[in-house]
Amino acid sequence: MAGEASKTAYARAQQVLVGGVNSPVRAFRAVGGTPYFAAYGEGPYLFDIDGNRYIDYLMSWGPLIWGHAHPEIVRAVAETAAKGTSFGVPTELETEMAETICRLVPSVEKVRMVNSGTEATMSAIRLARAATGRQYIVKCVGCYHGHADSFLVKAGSGVAALGLPDSPGVPQSTAERTLTVPYNDEAAMRGLFAERGAEIAAVIVEPVAGNMGCVRPLPGYLEAVRSITKEQGALLIFDEVITGFRLGLGGAQERFGVKADLTTFGKVIGAGLPVGAYGGRRDLMQMIAPEGPVYQGGTLSGNPLAMAAGLTSLRMLEEAAKRGIYEQMETYGRRLVDTFCDLGRKYGIPTTGDAIGGMFGLFFHDGPVVDFATASESDQPLYARFFHGMLAEGVAFAPAQLESGFMSCVHSESEIEQTLLAMERVMAGLGR
Ligand code: PLP
Repeated sequence: MAGEASKTAYARAQQVLVGGVNSPVRAFRAVGGTPYFAAYGEGPYLFDIDGNRYIDYLMSWGPLIWGHAHPEIVRAVAETAAKGTSFGVPTELETEMAETICRLVPSVEKVRMVNSGTEATMSAIRLARAATGRQYIVKCVGCYHGHADSFLVKAGSGVAALGLPDSPGVPQSTAERTLTVPYNDEAAMRGLFAERGAEIAAVIVEPVAGNMGCVRPLPGYLEAVRSITKEQGALLIFDEVITGFRLGLGGAQERFGVKADLTTFGKVIGAGLPVGAYGGRRDLMQMIAPEGPVYQGGTLSGNPLAMAAGLTSLRMLEEAAKRGIYEQMETYGRRLVDTFCDLGRKYGIPTTGDAIGGMFGLFFHDGPVVDFATASESDQPLYARFFHGMLAEGVAFAPAQLESGFMSCVHSESEIEQTLLAMERVMAGLGR
């Protein structure tokens, strides 16, 4: 339960901020209660303004792969800020960031930096439409690609958590140009393309879905989507805003050996500062202004503070990957999932889950969970009780069932052990 200071802060915030927050899911509507207000973070821990300490698996919804306030990232930001916060002319930091992304993600030959994941995905589909001369895009039910009009159609994450079907304010003519299929359903994708293939500019997909919980692609699914799009002259856009540099240095594309035409990034590449990027095949990216006619710009795009933080994070990841940091994160995630499932069996509670790279998911469902329909069958009131129980034990998971958990490079054996012990106590309470 949130303490008095958080309750007072929330009441004050609600007077002037919509719902007291700047992003809907922070209002805890999916789990009830009052959000805790952050005071500061340190490594794997977040401290709230009531003085509570939480082992943090929210990690700012994914960007903090190095945990809170990593000294090297803080130093890079401070040193960069001392020289100026934005210039409106190019900096070498931006080139260095683009070189790093191109080196680590082989399908990306050229990059454009933006300020959020939403900007990245909306720009990528504009480019896809321009490149193909087609109007329609395909997304999967329950995948979340940010809050641009085209994506608020059967979206996951906060949209799903609030139970909003589609958002008012999205023109019907825009929503109509977004076609949806269930995630992991190759036959549905083939069927849609058989019917409308000539009109489809692109398929955009989270290669591992992270906004309906954590749901990995079935064997062969990404390969099938790759070959269908290629055969039909549509582009494949991998939305790696979550998975980029989190599943491994080369993201989901490296892990599954499937190359996208365009890829969107965010989160980890900014290490907690506002950032996004999209990139891909050189011939496509050359259509963006000023090389080509597709307009997209931004006053703060490639911001030096975000570049410095992100570059430091990526450099450290390259080093840490050599000593198996991605395997370590996956092993820790797997231990959380396995214990959660064991406890479910012990106490007669339906449980399943998955862990891959630095992301994981826990479902109150017998499994398997393969798409949004099955994810939605998960017992959300039970998740809310689990969430609050864990919070009272000093462990913070996402304040909604249909979200991923995020491991960081600074979670250690000690935090995992504490989490497992807390989970045992909370699940015992739920089983009664
Ligand atoms: N794409 C995916 C897969 C995401 O998870 C998100 C945000 O959670 C976005 C896009 C949008 O990114 P942002 O919130 O930075 O606009």
